[in-house]
Amino acid sequence: MAEKLVYVKPNEIKESIMNFGWLKDFGSYNRIPQPFCKIDDLKFAEIAKRGTPEYMEYRMLAIVEGDIDEYIPSVIYWYGDLGLMVVFDENNLMDFYHLGCQHDYDEKVENGRVDMTCKLCGYKDVDYLLDEVKE
Ligand SMILES: [Zn+2]
Repeated sequence: MAEKLVYVKPNEIKESIMNFGWLKDFGSYNRIPQPFCKIDDLKFAEIAKRGTPEYMEYRMLAIVEGDIDEYIPSVIYWYGDLGLMVVFDENNLMDFYHLGCQHDYDEKVENGRVDMTCKLCGYKDVDYLLDEVKE
């Protein structure tokens, strides 16, 4: 039997996502967060395979065309530095979106440690070069 993952929705996690500097607008249950950018399934997989998201949520996106309001289901996977969104149409085909800043990093490498600062939003991250770490 597959392991079932259960995600709770603590307000602290949601608040930290809303305060991410790389996100301009958290959106709402019916609105997509800003900024967003459509990506293909390969790009989605490249990001999603990194691991378990910090937070997951379900939204019904409102699509307003003329007098017709349509609601389409979607799921968002929030990570510490970006969001991934899957939007389903009536035929269960999926569109994929990258949420938040498309980080463009300035990198400073020192002793196997890479300090990265996004030139666009100021987000900071750290990476380690395993083959250069000294014991
Ligand atoms: Zn950025």
